[in-house]
Amino acid sequence: MSKNIDWSSLGFGYIQTDYRYVCRYKDGKWDEGGIETDANITLNECACVFQYCQACFEGLKAYYTKDGRIVCFRPDLNAQRMADTCQRLEMPAFPVEKFVEAVKMVVAANADYVPPYGTGAALYLRPFMIGTNPVIGVKPATEFEFRIFVTPVGPYFRGGVKPIALTVSDFDRAAPHGTGAIKAGLNYAMSLHPVMEAHRAGYAENMYLDAATRTKVEETGGANFIFITKDGKLVTPKSDSILPSITRRSIMVVAEKYLGMEVEHREVPFTEVETFAECGLCGTAAVISPVGSINDHGREIVFPSDKEEMGPVLTRLYNTLRGIQMGEIEAPEGWVVTIQ
Ligand SMILES: *Cc1c(COP(=O)(O)O)cnc(C)c1O
Repeated sequence: MSKNIDWSSLGFGYIQTDYRYVCRYKDGKWDEGGIETDANITLNECACVFQYCQACFEGLKAYYTKDGRIVCFRPDLNAQRMADTCQRLEMPAFPVEKFVEAVKMVVAANADYVPPYGTGAALYLRPFMIGTNPVIGVKPATEFEFRIFVTPVGPYFRGGVKPIALTVSDFDRAAPHGTGAIKAGLNYAMSLHPVMEAHRAGYAENMYLDAATRTKVEETGGANFIFITKDGKLVTPKSDSILPSITRRSIMVVAEKYLGMEVEHREVPFTEVETFAECGLCGTAAVISPVGSINDHGREIVFPSDKEEMGPVLTRLYNTLRGIQMGEIEAPEGWVVTIQ
């Protein structure tokens, strides 16, 4: 039985559901893991997560396809990316197969919270890991908790997809020492001030440039950039400090294999940005959001695609990827994983 939720008015907020997946690491190994009901965690005040921010997370969605299946999109890539993040943070990797099993268990347990097909809403999954035992000298924890909670979320954009305005940031995107390419709360903690500054100046997000030279495009706080050249190529920035977006990697395949486009994954000088025909942000939350303009210290870069809606090439990419995700266009092997 579907929960009594007004799916059509859901926003992007936290709604507590009945079940979460929990697995604990102690004495060098993960326990069996399973579904639990308590949404609260009680920890010592000196837990490593509180003192040294030893924490990381992932984000993915489960949703109904037209033929009534509950599926999720490429969960193995979230598992692998989290393992990579854990390595950088001196946390134990959570095994990829166990991660995918946990995703299936927690979605199945909360199946009543998966929004019906056609509402544009989805069940958002938040896998995360924290260092739980007390440490006071600067060192990694030895005990960890891996959890996945879920929360139903509405379509990221309601009533059409309006292009957003960005501003070029003078802040570094992430914490120093090359910590950019991990999905962790510490990156987001460092981005809270820059993004609020952008909002106060009237912009939706920041465009971050590379920290060393401030001449190359990196990403925004939580999404990768995709650009369309005037002759219809897809260009997306390459950098070791960009988080490898699963949506961006999927769009690159869609562009090349489904739409026959040329794809360039390379460094993008900021000076090239004004030559592009279309600009978008990509990530799990919105899939693709069109960017209408970018403020570069008072100078406005405006993309020629209609300021009122997504440009034609991004629209084609968006529709194709959405069609694949929703089971309406045949997906590459392993992309759409059936849960039930
Ligand atoms: C999550 C995230 C993205 C988007 O990645 P997806 O896998 O497509 O959701 C991009 N940049 C940052 C910094 C992120 O944390």
